[in-house]
Amino acid sequence: MHVLVVEDEVTLAETLRDGLGAEGFTVTVAHDGLTGRDLAMTGRFDAVVLDIMLPGRNGFRVCRDLRDGGVTTPILMLTAKDGELDEAEALDTGADDFLSKPFSFIVLLARLRALQRRSAVSDVRAVTKAAMRVGDLVLEPMQRRCRRGEHDVSLTAREFDLLAELARCSPDVVSKTDILARVWGAEFEGDPNVVEVYIGYLRKKIDVPFSRMSLTTVRGLGYRLDAQ
Ligand code: CA
Repeated sequence: MHVLVVEDEVTLAETLRDGLGAEGFTVTVAHDGLTGRDLAMTGRFDAVVLDIMLPGRNGFRVCRDLRDGGVTTPILMLTAKDGELDEAEALDTGADDFLSKPFSFIVLLARLRALQRRSAVSDVRAVTKAAMRVGDLVLEPMQRRCRRGEHDVSLTAREFDLLAELARCSPDVVSKTDILARVWGAEFEGDPNVVEVYIGYLRKKIDVPFSRMSLTTVRGLGYRLDAQ
């Protein structure tokens, strides 16, 4: 994950660079608003940590410029302490989250990871708008339609989402953990065996009536959808 930190307090910027670097992030630092904005405009970052009080151009305006410019990179804004108004304005300008100074590094890390998860989910949704084909199995996410050859297959919303995730990753194996996170959502706290249950439902609809075995359980690893 490549993070852009736009922060004019050099010591804080360096602390973030070192801390995030130690957690496996790639970090680019800008010390003023204009440099930060120009870097972020490239859209090549996975997240932006953006201070408000910056030389050149303040964080609110940078945030607004980025959103107006069509940049959808998640933005975490650093607001002044007790800055309730700042927080409202931060969200209003298109920031995804805010953190008031002084903040704990652990909290910043957790917020960044949450932003990353949320944006991964929306990426998946954007990608899966296109029709997917695995052998003669065709999924049309916009119409929520599933076909095996010439036959329409009626799926519930959850079955469709699960099959779409497997189709998107096919022929790779998708772990139960990833399926739960991407199909049921990160907040899911129920029985993880729900995945196996739904795989069973899907087999009865997309495989059994057609004498296929396209949906495979790879023991200990997850599930795979094959073209056959
Ligand atoms: Ca500042």
